Amino acid sequence: MRWQEEEIVANEQEQTGRSVLVTGGTRGIGLAIAQAFLANGDKVAVTYRSGEVPEGMLGVKADVTDAESIDAAFTEVEAQHGPVEVLVANAGVTKDTLLLRMSEEDFTSVIDTNLTGAFRVVKRASKGMIRLKKGRVVLISSVVGLLGSAGQINYAASKSGLIGIARSLTRELGSRGITANVVAPGYIDTDMTAALPEDMKKQYMQSIPAGRFADPSEVANVVRWLSSDEAAYISGAVIPVDGGLGMGH
Ligand code: NDP
Repeated sequence: MRWQEEEIVANEQEQTGRSVLVTGGTRGIGLAIAQAFLANGDKVAVTYRSGEVPEGMLGVKADVTDAESIDAAFTEVEAQHGPVEVLVANAGVTKDTLLLRMSEEDFTSVIDTNLTGAFRVVKRASKGMIRLKKGRVVLISSVVGLLGSAGQINYAASKSGLIGIARSLTRELGSRGITANVVAPGYIDTDMTAALPEDMKKQYMQSIPAGRFADPSEVANVVRWLSSDEAAYISGAVIPVDGGLGMGH
């Protein structure tokens, strides 16, 4: 076998069968991401609070606002699949309202899930990744974290904070074979966007150069690629998947 062929086989072996954990992986974008890794031949675990765990995946009950439940979930995943090599921090919520009507609880609860929740899982995952001397962290942000959005001060703050996490993590752990990147979706068809008022959906549609909303699988494919060996030299990056909505940001 020529050396190039040997290398290709080695790469294929490396890129499948990894222990992958997706938070909030039983619906919407998280489910599509989990399915993409499963199709790739990885061992996929998903955290969930309610609902059904799809066949072929390991479901672990966890709430990202609770560090103990996160620790227990990781311990179970490690026992069944080995240390988490790919972490996708996807769990997220919105609680939209204009600034003057936004209570402190509206603000802090969204930060607690979207930003502190990501911190909790990244911190727990990093222990295993440091030992493995490799790892992929992908944080699901939003175009709103870059562009801002009226009525979403809490959400926008949480989503732009993820960029600070990915870039600082890159500086702390980049030399240990670990990458940390942010994916910033635009408008994706899920329960989260189904809840938006019709006039807001119309406004979004008009401002998206692609002229359409996206399917969750379009985000999942980018996350899967960012987690592959092909993307080993990409870290601290913000990758938009938004049909051009946030161009220049
Ligand atoms: P959904 O509302 O469909 O799903 C949200 C997911 O997050 C669910 O799996 C939910 O779990 C989980 N979750 C929420 N809170 C917690 C918590 N405290 N602990 C654990 N899990 C939790 O949203 P999407 O699929 O649309 O969104 C997924 C991610 O993508 C979010 O971070 C969102 O901000 C981001 N995003 C979405 C966009 C869109 O257009 N849809 C655009 C840009 C970013 P459960 O099922 O148990 O409730």
